[in-house]
Amino acid sequence: MANSFDESLLKKYFLYNYECWVCGKNHNNVFHHICGREEEGNSSILNAAPVANEECHLWIHPVLCMNENKKLLLKKTMKYLLEQGYSFNEVDKKFIEKHSRFYEDILREDTTRRGNET
Ligand SMILES: [Zn+2]
Ligand SMILES: [Zn+2]
Repeated sequence: MANSFDESLLKKYFLYNYECWVCGKNHNNVFHHICGREEEGNSSILNAAPVANEECHLWIHPVLCMNENKKLLLKKTMKYLLEQGYSFNEVDKKFIEKHSRFYEDILREDTTRRGNET
């Protein structure tokens, strides 16, 4: 299928993760393509969000594809992968560049929130 994820990378980095990015329960069984799968470069592992297909994916797909939710999922995957010691490959770098608008928003919101806490 177009822009499928690299199975070996998913296995390596998500093997011990059962958490569903949507609800937080330990029941994920598929990887949602956060920014869709049609566009070139969307096979980046940064575009993957583990979810439970029946409960937390298929029926709410249009909601997951709203920009605000894309950002939440992108952030969670990025944070998770960095915690696993993941380093970006060329596909990931292109993906980040292409979706830089989202990542810039995420960074800015993070900085603002931290600023408010102190
Ligand atoms: Zn769930
Ligand atoms: Zn999906």
